[in-house]
Amino acid sequence: MAVIFEFRAARTPAEAVALLKEHGGDAKVIAGGQSLMPLINLGLAQPKLLVDINGITDLGFVERRDGTLAIGALVRHRTLEHSDLVRQSCPLLAEALPLIGDRQVRNRGTIGGSLSHADPVAEIPTVATCLGATVHVEGPNGGRDLSASDFFVTYLTTALESDEILTEVRFPTFLAGTGVSFKELVRRKGDFAIVAAAAAIRLAPDGTCSEAHLALAGVDATPRQADAAASLLQGRMPGPQLIEEAAKAACEGIDPESDVIASADYRRSMAPIFARRALTEAFERARPGVG
Ligand SMILES: Cc1cc2nc3c(=O)[nH]c(=O)nc-3n(C[C@H](O)[C@H](O)[C@H](O)COP(=O)(O)OP(=O)(O)OC[C@H]3O[C@@H](n4cnc5c(N)ncnc54)[C@H](O)[C@@H]3O)c2cc1C
Repeated sequence: MAVIFEFRAARTPAEAVALLKEHGGDAKVIAGGQSLMPLINLGLAQPKLLVDINGITDLGFVERRDGTLAIGALVRHRTLEHSDLVRQSCPLLAEALPLIGDRQVRNRGTIGGSLSHADPVAEIPTVATCLGATVHVEGPNGGRDLSASDFFVTYLTTALESDEILTEVRFPTFLAGTGVSFKELVRRKGDFAIVAAAAAIRLAPDGTCSEAHLALAGVDATPRQADAAASLLQGRMPGPQLIEEAAKAACEGIDPESDVIASADYRRSMAPIFARRALTEAFERARPGVG
């Protein structure tokens, strides 16, 4: 059966929002097309209108602003992968980017598309959850900010209304001395992760943990922030036993799914191992009292 849809190019966020509003739930934004086009090809998405946002030149920025790294929705994964600013300001994001798909996917895929698509094992949503990033969305009634934990609702579902677009994401900028690590279990390089763990750690001058952030992917319908592990680490001297305990605490109550790639049981058994690996590497990389 032929797939037929109308295609309109927006030049501003307001134009995109107006087109989405006019067509209700029948319209979809297209950015890099790396997730949407496969869904359309498989018949899993059947939009009547595609609103192309690639011509909105204002959404291509990467800049430091008020203690954050602000990134426009249309910035491609590949641009971020090669950005010194990203490496300096948000090394956890820099570490995760090369793990996304292959070079062709990263050449086209956008950060706004990855966040809006909300795949629970995608690298960028996992980093956004780990660091408590903020997304900005624009709709017919103006703009609003949402925390990553409020933005990701469930599998492939966000808090975006059908007439809203995501315009930017802001990651807290890192202080020098922060140790980071992103570890994922994949069958082949570039595959979507079976499970993944992202960690960021700061150490006080005496070597105790002064700040810990950990998020897991592939264990729930959205990336999961491991608050229990972070509080367990806070103020304590890191060591293999404490890290093992924190990794286990991070996985309490996880609810992974079985699919063609891996069973829920396999994910459940691998999650604490990858949490431990990410925490161990982040602690090794952190420098006490720096920053
Ligand atoms: C072979 C292959 C391998 C891949 N491997 C990985 C991987 O390992 N890890 C990973 O994370 N991703 C992977 N991806 C997905 C890739 O990262 C996509 O680029 C990304 O998920 C979506 O970005 P996009 O710009 O292509 O979005 P699109 O495909 O254009 O859109 C995706 C969804 O987001 C919506 N959308 C896009 N931009 C906006 C916006 N600004 N505001 C509101 N809604 C918006 C669209 O309506 C659509 O629903 C892979 C893709 C392919 C084809």
